[in-house]
Amino acid sequence: MKRRDFFKAAIISSAGMSLVFKHDLSPAKGINASVFDGREGVRCYQGPPTDTIDTSISELLKIGPGPSSSHTVAPLRIAANFRAAMEELPRQRLSRARKIEARLYGSLSSTGRGHHTDRAILAGLLGEKPESCDTDLMQELGHSGRTDTISVQGQDFVIGAETIVWAKVDHNFPFENTLVMRLLDEQGEAVFSRQYYSTGGGFFKWKGQPEEERGEPVYRYSSMTGFKKVAENENKELHEIMMANEKAITGKSEQEIVAHLDLVLDTMQEGVMLGLEEEGLLPAPFEFYRKARHIHQQALKMEGGDRFMGLVSSYALAVSEGNAAGRLAVTAPTLGSAGTIPAVLHLMQHKLNYSRDAMRRGLLAAALVGFLCKNNASVAGAEVGCQGEIGVASAMAAAMITHAGGASLQATETAASRALMHHLGMSCDPVGGFVLIPCIERNAFGALKGYNAYLLATNEMLSQMWGGLDRTIAAMLETGRALPRAYREMGTGGLAVTLVDC
Ligand code: SF4
Repeated sequence: MKRRDFFKAAIISSAGMSLVFKHDLSPAKGINASVFDGREGVRCYQGPPTDTIDTSISELLKIGPGPSSSHTVAPLRIAANFRAAMEELPRQRLSRARKIEARLYGSLSSTGRGHHTDRAILAGLLGEKPESCDTDLMQELGHSGRTDTISVQGQDFVIGAETIVWAKVDHNFPFENTLVMRLLDEQGEAVFSRQYYSTGGGFFKWKGQPEEERGEPVYRYSSMTGFKKVAENENKELHEIMMANEKAITGKSEQEIVAHLDLVLDTMQEGVMLGLEEEGLLPAPFEFYRKARHIHQQALKMEGGDRFMGLVSSYALAVSEGNAAGRLAVTAPTLGSAGTIPAVLHLMQHKLNYSRDAMRRGLLAAALVGFLCKNNASVAGAEVGCQGEIGVASAMAAAMITHAGGASLQATETAASRALMHHLGMSCDPVGGFVLIPCIERNAFGALKGYNAYLLATNEMLSQMWGGLDRTIAAMLETGRALPRAYREMGTGGLAVTLVDC
């Protein structure tokens, strides 16, 4: 089949299926436990969660410097938050402080160097913002010997490599990625401190944080099951519900929300285009070469399915390599998985001719899946392994292309569920704590699996399907909890061990 025909067939296929399944909203079926009579100790699904989801799209899909959302973007935001808190301290209290200290615990301590956590903290203290941060400056920070001076309420503080303390990997804090920011006096006693937790995808919170004031969602749901009920009862499309909720939660106008979606789309597209132009080594203590450009050039010489797979892979690699080099990318849902959605998006725009509006609608479907995974399980590799990063990204990508093509909510759910299902159990084992191996290639596989999930969901008899997205997310959480800690972003298990010679 010629390239043009291949892509055309894909469009016709998705459009056709949307007509067939548009009104098919049958509930996601479970298997009755009685069919397993005789099997001791069969456990079963306890049902969907009940907390209302009020995460906003701009919180989930953020722009920030690579390579990691939990280990780079969140620490940068945390440091900026701490500096803002210093600005609010009573003058007399601040005047006792001599030094700022950032103590890293858990996975932040074990893999923070490879994730540029130290540079991110220093950038945050210097007043950089994730979405506009100077990535060249980031490369300079944290080098031994370099110091900078910041002024808070007219008082100077010197910051540099000594600001960062790589503290205990094992700890008893309630979250794996813990960062304690402290202001110390002459004797090293804390004048002021905050215990922060990086909870995945660039999100963070701190101990004792007051309840944030935010708007109530118009349409309340806590699960995909609940979301489908809302859609059915209100006779609304997925993107209509998401847009109404986003306006209510953030207080922003539709125009402002669309502007953010466009910024996300443009950043993703730019990441692909820039990455396809670059060659050479990526920053790492071992030789690691970019390959997106070469794979892309090779794919252009191929035909049919090989060409398709090569191209999609090259798009994902292009963004992921840029992210590994510290470029700005979108947390989708994390930066480790920043290449998966852009790959499918690039395919939609440049090969399948989806309109801008369709891509925005698709992004809203991706956000819904991200919300469900974040709120009902986790999107942090340190908590549930790579299933929570690449697995969720793949599910978001599958939902995006399915919904953007006009398929039903049932098909969109099925596509997301299938993509996530086939990432269950995936450990997080970055070699040396760098977001290189296996992270970069995992994005290519995540994108292809997402596309395949979309094909399956728009071509099968959905009423005959077992399971649903809520059940798969519950399985991800259960599996993630069972993963040994060495396989949750510690850099001490799996490939992080076997790829290193003794
Ligand atoms: S292995 Fe997966 S979860 Fe772990 S850092 Fe890499 S992309 Fe993130």
